[in-house]
Amino acid sequence: MTDARRNPDDLDALRAASDVLGIDALLTDEERATRDRVRAFVDAEIRPHIAGWFDRGHFPVELAPALGRLGVLGMTLDGYGCRGRSAVEYGVAALELEAGDSGIRTFVSVQGSLAMSSIHRWGTEEQKQEWLPRMAAGEVIGCFALTEPGAGSDPAGMTTYARRDGDDWIIAGAKRWIGLASIAQIAVVWAQTDEGVRGFLVPTDARGLDIAVLGPKGSMRASVQTQLRFDDVRVPASALLPGAVGLRGPFSALSEARYGIVWGALGAARDSYEAALRHALRREQFGQPIAGFQLTQRKLVDMVVELQKGALLALHLGRAKDAGTLTPAQISLGKLNNVREAIEIAREARTILGGDGVLLENSPIRHAANLESVRTYEGTDEVHTLVLGQHLTGLGAFR
Ligand SMILES: Cc1cc2nc3c(=O)[nH]c(=O)nc-3n(C[C@H](O)[C@H](O)[C@H](O)COP(=O)(O)OP(=O)(O)OC[C@H]3O[C@@H](n4cnc5c(N)ncnc54)[C@H](O)[C@@H]3O)c2cc1C
Repeated sequence: MTDARRNPDDLDALRAASDVLGIDALLTDEERATRDRVRAFVDAEIRPHIAGWFDRGHFPVELAPALGRLGVLGMTLDGYGCRGRSAVEYGVAALELEAGDSGIRTFVSVQGSLAMSSIHRWGTEEQKQEWLPRMAAGEVIGCFALTEPGAGSDPAGMTTYARRDGDDWIIAGAKRWIGLASIAQIAVVWAQTDEGVRGFLVPTDARGLDIAVLGPKGSMRASVQTQLRFDDVRVPASALLPGAVGLRGPFSALSEARYGIVWGALGAARDSYEAALRHALRREQFGQPIAGFQLTQRKLVDMVVELQKGALLALHLGRAKDAGTLTPAQISLGKLNNVREAIEIAREARTILGGDGVLLENSPIRHAANLESVRTYEGTDEVHTLVLGQHLTGLGAFR
C-alpha cells in the first residue's frame, strides 16, 4: 500500500476519487455545464453566508432574481420565460443548490415545481401569461397551499372550502406549513368545493387572508414557512385553475417536487461527506490523521457507497422522467431512499468533525437538521413506504 495522504485542499481530486463508479461520465456535456454553473453560484452566493442566515433564521429573498437569471425557476417548463430544460438538468441543479442549503433548494422547488408547474399545467392562457414569466425571473414569488392544521399526510381530509357566490368564489379555512407565503405575491390554494378539490390563484394581500410565520424552527432555518387563515376570502371566477379537478391537481405538482428531492438530498449528503473527509485528512490524533483510522475509513466508505448508489438511482429516475416513463412508485422509492440515506450521512459526517461538528461553521449538523424537514414534507417516510407497500401487495395500508 502507498501512503500518500490526499490533499484536503484539492477538492477536485477528492471528488474524482469519490466518484468510484465514474457516474460523472454518465452525464452529458450540457448536464455537466449546468451543474458547474449552479455549483459556482452556490459557492459565490450561498456558501459564504449560509451559516449566518441559518443562525438568524433568515431567508435571503433578495437572491430570487439571481436564481431567476441562473435559470432554475420553473427550469423544466416550456415557454412563458421558462428554460424547458431536461429533468436530469433540473436534478443536477437541485443537487448543487441543496449542497448549499436545503432551504435554498426548497425555495426553488416551491416556486418552480409546486406553484409554477400548477399554473403551467392547470391554468388558463391568461393566468400563464400573467404569472409565469415574472415567476421564472424571480420577480414574483409564489407559494403552494395544500397542508392544513388537520390534514397533512391525508390531504383528502382538507376542510378549507370554496363556495360560489355569483361569479365569485369565497374561501374559508386554514392552511399550515406553507412555504414562502409571507414573502409571496401569489398563492396556489387547494380547497374543497361542491365539485371536489379545486385550485385557486389567490393574491397574498387579499382581504380576509391572514399570514403568520411559523417558528422558531430547529430545521430549515434559512427558509420561511407560514400558517394561513382564510376568513371568507373573495376571489373572482378568473382565479380558478380550470384544468384541475380532484386531488390529481396538487398531486401532479407534488410528483415534480418529490423528483427534485431525490437529487437534492444527495447534495446535502455530499457536502456533509466532503466536510468530513477534508477534516479527517487534516485532523491528527494519536500521532496520525484520523482519516488513517479504520473506523473513520469505514464511515467515509459507507457514505460514498450510499452517495454513489443514490446518484445512480437519481440518474435512472431522471432518465425515466425524460423518457416519460417515470412512475409514482419509482418516485416514492427514490425519495424514501435518498433522504433516509442523506440524513445518515450528515449525522455520521458530524461525528467525524468531533466537537467542531456542532458548530454551524461546519455544514453537516445544519444539513442533518434540514433533512428532518425534507424527510417529512412531500410525503413522509411512512407515506412513501405505504405507497410502495400498496404497489407490492395491492393492499392499501393507509387506514
Ligand atoms: C419545512 C416544511 C415545509 C413545508 N412546506 C409546505 C408547503 O409549501 N406547502 C404545503 O402544502 N405543505 C408544506 N409542508 C407540510 C408537509 O407536507 C406536511 O408536514 C407533511 O405532509 C406531513 O403532514 P403533518 O405534518 O400534518 O404530519 P401528520 O400527517 O400528522 O403525520 C405525523 C406522523 O404520522 C405518520 N403517519 C400519518 N399517517 C400514517 C399512516 N397511515 N401510517 C403510518 N404513519 C402515518 C406520519 O408519517 C408522521 O410520521 C411543509 C412542511 C415542512 C416541515
